Amino acid sequence: MTHPQANLTQLQTEAAQRSLIERELTARFAPEDEVLRDAQARASAAGMPAIQISPVQGKLLQVLATACGARKILEIGALAGYSGTWLARALPPEGRLITLEVSAKHAGVARETYAQAGLADRVDLRLGPALETLAGLTGEAPFDLIFIDADKGNYPGYLDWAVKLSRPGSIIVADNVIRSGRAFQSPPPDESAEGAAAYNAKLLANPRLLSVAFPMDDGGLDGFAISVVLP
Ligand code: SAM
Repeated sequence: MTHPQANLTQLQTEAAQRSLIERELTARFAPEDEVLRDAQARASAAGMPAIQISPVQGKLLQVLATACGARKILEIGALAGYSGTWLARALPPEGRLITLEVSAKHAGVARETYAQAGLADRVDLRLGPALETLAGLTGEAPFDLIFIDADKGNYPGYLDWAVKLSRPGSIIVADNVIRSGRAFQSPPPDESAEGAAAYNAKLLANPRLLSVAFPMDDGGLDGFAISVVLP
């Protein structure tokens, strides 16, 4: 029988390896500039939670936006403008990121980030509960890429809107669909896991969506689901 201490040491070694790899990948593929670092510092100074995506996730969003030639991007959940900066930087000058945020405090900090990034002309932050704002966006659809990263309980509703506001070829990305595996428990043990589980089930049941999910953040315990809208 393996001694429990040996298992613990192995786990600690694996966690250290994963963290080293993440640091190397970030340094090589997704280094942050001053704007991105300041977005996090500004959020922290304002007492906001550090729940933004990772740099590699930001870079992946840029790659996806570029791959689909995105001119119109929709984001649900702005926080301090960190992911929005990665996304808006993939837009052409005439492109537009519409980002939805319920907190006036977060919105204020995010706007400072977009201004510092020189992206204020490209980013349109709409304040209010996203489900209400989404209902008013049909005239501005379709969006080429939609990024969902807000309250998990509303993820299934956000997916319905994302599909309505998309076109064939649009990409829909959602963060936090794994929740340390809690999204796969039956029943899911908390509201956020329940939202993620319902989101995943809805994706997989929709024949118009080609989808995949994989671990990306929180030391590999959470991650993205990515879907392409089929014709
Ligand atoms: N996407 C951001 C990033 O990576 O930089 C992180 C977003 S954070 C995880 C979630 C954000 O969603 C918070 O700023 C929160 O205030 C916002 N939010 C929560 N519920 C919302 C709702 N019903 N409508 C709009 N925004 C909401």
